Amino acid sequence: MAEKITVRNGRLEVPDNPIIPYIEGDGTGPDIWYATRLAIDAAVLKAYSGRRRIEWKEVLAGEKAFKATGEWLPRKTLDDITEHVVAIKGPLTTPVGEGIRSLNVTIRQELDLYACIRPVKWIKGTPSPVVHPEWLDVVIFRENTEDIYAGIEWMPGSDKARKVIGFLNGEMGCKIDETASIGVKPITKSATQRLMRKAMEYAMRNHRHTVTIVHKGNIMKYTEGAFRTWCYELAEAEFKGLFVTEEELKGTDGRVPKGKILINDRITDNMFQQLLLRSREYDVIVTPNLNGDYLSDAAAAQVGGLGMAPGANIGDFLAVFEATHGTAPKYAGLDKTNPGSLMLSAKMMLDYIGWGEAADLLARSLEDTVSQKKVTYDLARNMEGAKEVRTSEFAKYMVENMG
Ligand code: NAP
Repeated sequence: MAEKITVRNGRLEVPDNPIIPYIEGDGTGPDIWYATRLAIDAAVLKAYSGRRRIEWKEVLAGEKAFKATGEWLPRKTLDDITEHVVAIKGPLTTPVGEGIRSLNVTIRQELDLYACIRPVKWIKGTPSPVVHPEWLDVVIFRENTEDIYAGIEWMPGSDKARKVIGFLNGEMGCKIDETASIGVKPITKSATQRLMRKAMEYAMRNHRHTVTIVHKGNIMKYTEGAFRTWCYELAEAEFKGLFVTEEELKGTDGRVPKGKILINDRITDNMFQQLLLRSREYDVIVTPNLNGDYLSDAAAAQVGGLGMAPGANIGDFLAVFEATHGTAPKYAGLDKTNPGSLMLSAKMMLDYIGWGEAADLLARSLEDTVSQKKVTYDLARNMEGAKEVRTSEFAKYMVENMG
């Protein structure tokens, strides 16, 4: 009988037939979701010989929700995800227009999914623009709830913008042109430190060697600079003895003592070139929202692009796994786009619920299919000798590769 995933004594309890809500997504969402679901179900069946099975529960968001309910993101969807703890989603259109915020950002903020986790690793055979894509293997922890994504901003010339400018010029000694647009960048100690905690726990659990704090604290001293300080403080308070800092290694042979994690920090602009030029030196990255947004797409490009980049938004326990690309509307309904991003996010989801065998099978069959050069258009155009396949065919080849 299908049951809900629950949280008990600080741990996820996952039944053999868990109910998992999914949002199909807009545009190409239904195509890639259909393919992904086929591959997940096959991997679970194969890995557990039928002993385990996911009971999928559709929840509505985006255009489908709007047509059915008149709302882009019904409250029921958020409640269902909360109640079932783990969910997966395809990409959603952000309706263009005044006052409508990105549905993705709203889901993250409403459910307090404070860590956006993006592993970036090359899948063998994927065409890449760099010479050694295999040198990059990082996991990016991007803060998900604050920074300029908090949505606190005002149109130029509006009453509110003028009022804020009046206050800043009149009482805070600023000199802001009164025609300026104004945005606010809140960064708090609590949001920073819960992210850093998650990154450190991840690094320890997965035997990672380095945690790099990426910030622009040289310029934004009291927001991004504070982010850096609070990350180090959290490490000192909760992980003492388990790490060394780059500072502490100065004057030594530079080797990190066995079993310890190296914590260092890099300024954001430098980090972009570091990932390209010294890929092998980085491992786990912790960074505020906007830096993380840019950095994760740039890193994904290094290993072949967004079509193969997975992601998850995770709070204390609640987790929503998602394709990292958008709805690619021009390909909607054409059974053409790459389901790799959603498939790899599904792999993360299976790992998260402790179904590692099915997760590995899913990832291996994806890698095998790409290695056999049976790939969707986006990879085929950069791969010599490739056979271009449809989204659904790609999933079928994956299932065949599961044996
Ligand atoms: P996009 O949908 O990511 O598409 C941009 C381009 O990326 C596509 O034209 C295509 O490139 C490539 N691409 C995206 N997904 C692909 C896939 N699965 N397989 C192969 N190639 C893929 O970005 P956008 O056009 O800027 O945004 C469209 C809508 O998506 C907007 O409403 C935006 O708000 C929304 N969006 C949603 C999310 C989300 O749900 N997390 C994220 C980003 C954007 P080629 O044309 O070169 O083939």
